[in-house]
Parts: sequence; C-alpha cells; structure tokens
Amino acid sequence: MKQYITCAIPYVNAAPHAGHALEFIQGDTIARYHRLLDSEVILLSGADENALKNVQAAESLGENVQAFVDKNAKLFQDLAEKLNVRFDVFQKGSDEKHHLASQKLWQLCAEQGDIYKKSYKGLYCVGCEAFYTPDELDEKGECFEHPGKKLEEVKEENYFFKLSSYQDKLLQLIESEKYQIIPSFRKNEVISFIKSGLQDFSISRTNKRAKNWGVPVPGDPNQREYVWFDALNIYQSGIGFGWDEEKYKKWWPADLHVIGKGIIRFHAVYWPAILLSAGLALPKKLFVHDYITINGQKMSKTLGNIIDPLEVIKKYGTDALRYYLLAKVSPFTDGDYSDEKMLETYNADLANGLGNLVARIAKLAEKVSFEITQTTEIFDPLVKERLEQFKFNEALGAIWQDIAALDKKINEVQPWKLEEEKLKEFLSESAVKIRSIALSLKPFLPETADKILQQFSGQVTSSAPLFPRI
Ligand SMILES: [Zn+2]
Repeated sequence: MKQYITCAIPYVNAAPHAGHALEFIQGDTIARYHRLLDSEVILLSGADENALKNVQAAESLGENVQAFVDKNAKLFQDLAEKLNVRFDVFQKGSDEKHHLASQKLWQLCAEQGDIYKKSYKGLYCVGCEAFYTPDELDEKGECFEHPGKKLEEVKEENYFFKLSSYQDKLLQLIESEKYQIIPSFRKNEVISFIKSGLQDFSISRTNKRAKNWGVPVPGDPNQREYVWFDALNIYQSGIGFGWDEEKYKKWWPADLHVIGKGIIRFHAVYWPAILLSAGLALPKKLFVHDYITINGQKMSKTLGNIIDPLEVIKKYGTDALRYYLLAKVSPFTDGDYSDEKMLETYNADLANGLGNLVARIAKLAEKVSFEITQTTEIFDPLVKERLEQFKFNEALGAIWQDIAALDKKINEVQPWKLEEEKLKEFLSESAVKIRSIALSLKPFLPETADKILQQFSGQVTSSAPLFPRI
C-alpha cells in the first residue's frame, strides 16, 4: 500500500509561524500513522516561490529574488526538522523540474481547448495572488484573509482557464465523495460555491507584472504562469510529473491534501478542474483545518502576536509543542494558543500525567528488578478510528484516558504494598498498558514514544523524567 500525503506549499515571503507548525505536525502525524501500518509513504511540502509577494519582499530588502526564496525556504525546512516533521520531498517552485512539470500541465489543458486569451480588468489581492469580484470582499472592499490591504485594480491581457466548463463534473465528484472534502461543513461550503456559478479564471500574467519571475507560458514569451496554476502543481512535480513518469505513476494521485481553510477554493475547485482538463487523476481526500488564534485573536503581523514555534520548542521541547497543537487545537474550529495555556498543559498533561505515570511504574519495576519478556502491546483502536477522521485532539484524549485509568489503578491497588510475586504480576499487566500507550503515541509524539518503548523493554529501570516540571 502507498500513501501520498501533502501539506500545503507555503509562500516563502516571510519566516514560518505557529500556523505552519500546526499543519506540518498534522501532516506528519498522519504520515507516521501510515508508516506504522506498513504503508510506503511520501509526505511532501515545498516552497511556493513564484508568487509576486516573494518578488516584492525581496525587492523591499534589496535582495536577489532567488537568493531570497532560497534563504526563506530553508527556514521552513529547518522548522520542519526542529518539529521532528519528516518531509520525504520538499519541492521548490523555482526548481527546473518544477518548471518542466508546470509547462507540461499547461500544454495538456491547452490541448483540450481549455486555455484562451482575453483582456481583463479586475481587483487583485497580492496577498492571495487572486482576483476577486466586489461581492467577495468585506464592507471596506478588502479581502477577508488580508484586512487592511487595498486591492489593486489590474488591467491586462491574460490567459484564462475554462473553469465554467467543469461546474457539473466538479459538483458530481464532490457530492459523490469521489473527491472527499473533510469536514462535511467545508464540503457543503464548496458545493454552494460551485452552485453559485463558476467563472473562468486567469492563469497567467504579463512578464512586466510578474517582473520576469516564474514559469514561462509555453509558446508565449511575454507571459508567465499565474502563481496558483504552478503552485498547485508542486503536488505533482515533486513526485516526477514531467520528469520521471514511472515515479509519477507510482505515487499519483495524492491520497490526501492537508490545507488550511483560507485556500480551500483553490484546492477544492480550481485544482480538480485543472486535473480533469489535463486528463489526470484527482486526489482522493482534502482535509481542511482551521487556524490558531493567539489569546483569542487572529495571529497577524499588525497585532504583533505572531508565535515563533522555535521559541516554544526552546522552552518546552518538540514533543510538548506537538502535543499542544494536536491535543488543544481543535482541527475543525479555530484553536487558541497562549503562554499560560501552554505552561498549564505542559505541567498537567505531560509532566504530571504521562511523565509521572511512566516514572511511577519504572520505579516500582526497578525495586524488584522486573524484566519484560513478552511484548503484546496494541495500538488503541479508538485512537485509530479518530486519527482516520483527523480528530487529533480526540485521539489524544483517548490515550490520556488510558493514562488516567492506569494511574487510578495504581492508586487503588497500591502495588508498593504487594509482596514480590504479586507486584511482578501487577507490573506485567501495567507494562503491556504502558507499551500500548507508547505505541499509540508514536504518530503524535514520536520521540517520547520511542523513549518509553526503550525504557520498557528488557530490564526496566528508572530514568530522567520525560517532561521535567517547569
Ligand atoms: Zn487576500
């Protein structure tokens, strides 16, 4: 079995923040789960480097665009490493192979007669790299994702993609769940958007507006591919499309795209339509998560409340941040982060909950030189069920119930009062439970899970606390 999982391809016009960490960790948890089931897995992300935003950001710093995107893409890769997120592929948009792949995709759509040129005037959000109609904007005429930023009125001759031709097909594929959108309220949003009528959309811009940056349009030296057309294609170019057919055939279609709610239209409407046009298979599932708020407010540069995940890792450790983002941030509503909540969660759930339980049992085991001879741990079926629905918080909730139950049992049995044979019997039972907890934790907190499994194999001894109290 293969599983091809993707995280969204971030713009690399600025350093990553906690929102990127959330999505990287979610994708990684799903990928690790499938690796545990013995699937062959590719987890992909990359860098959306052809966006105008990157050119503008580089210019404002007086830097070369390529050097600028290389430097920033590296920040995202470094973050992934610090989060213990294992991307098998990190595909850069400025990569030559990606250019080849995106020109191939264009040609396939053009051969179907789905690409045409026309003069266009519209309101353009540089933040989204998208055109909007006035009814799609807020009362101030600003985009919902980028309040405070004026839209530009842009007039030029562009290539358009015949999205309108795919309205019925898309509706049928999404309603029948051949392309499954999770959660269902997001699916319903997409369905009503499609039913409201799909407009053809621009997929190129002039060299002048693109500042000669991005993928050249095949056969037209004056235009570059519009950023979304090529950025979405990173999902294909990263696994061989246009440069290694055998590899591509093995991995495509994606089994799962993981994205934030802000880019749902591109993934649920534009992307499948482009693939349909090109005669390529559609991804199977789209999981749409919500955002992290900070102390109840949207994270934004203007509010100055951007959380740097690296600072949190420095103070609490990688697995503590993974735990917070998976357990305390609901995947389907906005979830809040605050320093107080982080500290409270760390001490209550990790230092006192998991860490204390493991230490208690290890100490008892050491007292009688207890040795584990058979390992019969199981992955909690409830965790499995919830993980397959992307309910990370509920999956961890189930594991923490197991932790609480074992804690309660220790308090009731008072094993420290038992004579040696009885104590060893109690420890055998408890060790299986601890190992089952650790196994179920593997996709979420890989490092902690491995430490516990190592500690609870062979002769069990005490060790340094997993999560020292802060
Ligand atoms: Zn916007």
